[in-house]
Amino acid sequence: MAWWLILFGIFVHLIFFYSIFDIYFTSPLVHGMTPHSTQLAAPAKRLVLFVADGLRADKVFELDEHDQTRAPYIRNIIQNVGAWGVSHTRVPTESRPGHVALIAGFYEDVSAITKGASGSHVYTEMYPGESEDFAGADLGKLDTWVFEKVKEFLKQAEHNVFLAEKLNKEKVILFMHLLGLDTNGHAHKPYSKEYLNNIKLVDKGVEEMVSVLENYFEHDGRTAYVFTADHGMTNWGSHGAGHPSETLTPLVAWGAGVRKPLPSTLEYTHDGFEKEWQMNTKRSDVNQADIAALMASLIGIPFPLNSVVCRITF
Ligand SMILES: [Zn+2]
Repeated sequence: MAWWLILFGIFVHLIFFYSIFDIYFTSPLVHGMTPHSTQLAAPAKRLVLFVADGLRADKVFELDEHDQTRAPYIRNIIQNVGAWGVSHTRVPTESRPGHVALIAGFYEDVSAITKGASGSHVYTEMYPGESEDFAGADLGKLDTWVFEKVKEFLKQAEHNVFLAEKLNKEKVILFMHLLGLDTNGHAHKPYSKEYLNNIKLVDKGVEEMVSVLENYFEHDGRTAYVFTADHGMTNWGSHGAGHPSETLTPLVAWGAGVRKPLPSTLEYTHDGFEKEWQMNTKRSDVNQADIAALMASLIGIPFPLNSVVCRITF
């Protein structure tokens, strides 16, 4: 065979090899746009975002076999305080794409690269040691750990003028990532008593967090709260695909800038879930990436530049 034919063959293969990266590994992110905020005054001074990892909508919204709710605090918010609906997530139903959709407002592809938050304006606390192992048998500890850290953080701010000053500024975001439900879902499945009890624990924790935060900020009425999940969980304890148990997650919002409950309408009853869950207030569904725009408008920060929001009426 002629040498040039061999070289030509290698060249053709190189082009094919390159094309794979060109097709699949091109970031959808667009740069260089002008940021835009809502023209309205921000109703909230700060936002509290709770993400219950792996919490599916039905398990938190439905009543149990004794017609009792597993999440009395959240249910009271739905009936008497704020707005609720189902947040529809996309495939892959995994933690990172879920958080990117929630916070950055777009659906991540394989190559989208996010930068880690850093700088003097970001305070983070991470689970110690080897990821989830420290919780041992009681996986709910993953959540109580977060709640404890927030309480410590606020205590610290009471004696730290510099921190207190930062916390009292506008556009403050407190983000709590609760990993217990996901870990319990994988280990024991979402219908297990471990998973269902973990919902009660999260509900109690959210109640406590609202109470300590309201006290810290002296009930100034300027805090907005968003409670949701990054993805759901199948009955067999997995996630990643597009089954409704994985893509239907809860969204509950209340506080500064969020509407009060409205009477139930027939507008969103295509799947009839709210009937099954015996909810008598209006259900407002969103796409997961819309939550980023909702949160941005609540505290008056620019909408994420690559936001794919369709609507933010909620
Ligand atoms: Zn998981």
